[in-house]
Amino acid sequence: MATCPECECEFDDPIVICPHCNVPLVNREEAEAGAGDGEAVDENLPAEGLVVIETTTDDTRVGQIRELLEESGIPCFLSDELFPTDPPPDETKVFIPREMVDDAKRLMRDYFIVNKTAT
Ligand SMILES: [Zn+2]
Repeated sequence: MATCPECECEFDDPIVICPHCNVPLVNREEAEAGAGDGEAVDENLPAEGLVVIETTTDDTRVGQIRELLEESGIPCFLSDELFPTDPPPDETKVFIPREMVDDAKRLMRDYFIVNKTAT
């Protein structure tokens, strides 16, 4: 199924040019593929190879997570650094490389459990 970017009409193969607008059709299903996985980790990201480990409005928590991850050698990136917007969004997403998700989750779980029992 292909869609005309101009008139939004949908056409089946083998039509590749919109007969109304005379523009090339785009494959919308391909563009939207990958959305809607029910995992805790949001994989629907523009930055390839990165996943969201945390979404929070708490700047202090963001700082703690970042410190924790970087101390452990896991590079992390914040959404307002990767995708600057004006004004910045209320919530900050913490991105890490996909292959380090398991380590990061374990670190965060240990870290926040320790903090909870200590207070
Ligand atoms: Zn069209």
